[in-house]
Amino acid sequence: MEDGGEGLKFLADNMLGRLARYMRILGYDTSYPNIQAPDLVLVEMSRKEDRILISRDKQLHERWKNSFLITSDKLDDQLCQITERFHPSMQSLFSRCTACNGLLVQPYAPCVEKYYRGDVKEVQQCDTCGKCYWRGTHTQSIVGYLRRLGIYIES
Ligand SMILES: [Zn+2]
Repeated sequence: MEDGGEGLKFLADNMLGRLARYMRILGYDTSYPNIQAPDLVLVEMSRKEDRILISRDKQLHERWKNSFLITSDKLDDQLCQITERFHPSMQSLFSRCTACNGLLVQPYAPCVEKYYRGDVKEVQQCDTCGKCYWRGTHTQSIVGYLRRLGIYIES
């Protein structure tokens, strides 16, 4: 799967925080250092970690081969651009922490008791920062949003 997002790693520059968050929701391994770094530093991070640099900066894109240029300011368009180029894996939806990019696993700390309300079918916890996640109306509305964009997500 040459164009698939699976197995690929990404690095979003500090202009693309909302996109980075949604990329994590879709399961893309997305680093988002959120720093005002000179181009050279971003390129070095991209090279060192073998991450595709996602940027709105055309000059930066032209200077660094392993990069992907985002051409719109709108999140909707940005998400379409990413998912058209790097097809999202349906199994990866809701598999990553939106806060830190860690992987979501079975809960290993007391978050279940704290959040469990009986109607929560699936509780997961970030293996890196410990944040808890559960499926509910908020995840359904995200799926609805992605569907409206034409990003096919199996139910
Ligand atoms: Zn986390």
